[in-house]
Amino acid sequence: MRRPKNKVAEYFVNIYRSLATIAAGMGVTIKVFFQKPVTLQYPDELPVIEEAFRGLHIYEQEKCIACEMCVKACPIDCISLQYEGKGKKARIKSYRIDYTKCLFCNLCVEACPTHCIKMGKEYNLCSYDRAGCVRELAEDIYSERSTVSE
Ligand code: SF4
Ligand code: SF4
Repeated sequence: MRRPKNKVAEYFVNIYRSLATIAAGMGVTIKVFFQKPVTLQYPDELPVIEEAFRGLHIYEQEKCIACEMCVKACPIDCISLQYEGKGKKARIKSYRIDYTKCLFCNLCVEACPTHCIKMGKEYNLCSYDRAGCVRELAEDIYSERSTVSE
């Protein structure tokens, strides 16, 4: 913008520009003041999770046939599976996912022939150390049966 030659004129132009700048800034402030806040009071308020969200896995152990397709499909080897037997008689001893490495890429889900591993909506991976991010998804659902047979 051109500077006025006259000192008095320059003085009033500066006042005008300052007021215009303040008015523009206050316009934005007032507009946002009446809008709905985008922040949430977490954890009292929880976000709405979209359908396509890929959170921590859901594992249906009873349907797992220990085929290891998910383990082979995982690009970074973060699934660790321990079992005895194969197919419908498989006994799953451990199904662990290391979430310090998981990419949430969904490839394990796509590879599973029995649809027993899915991406869930849980996102809370809070932990005091890295070991807390390695999650065991299998439960010892066979312990009662094994105790009886022993
Ligand atoms: S989502 Fe991807 S990275 Fe994570 S366990 Fe499945 S295949 Fe591996
Ligand atoms: S691909 Fe599915 S059925 Fe096969 S081991 Fe993985 S979770 Fe179990």
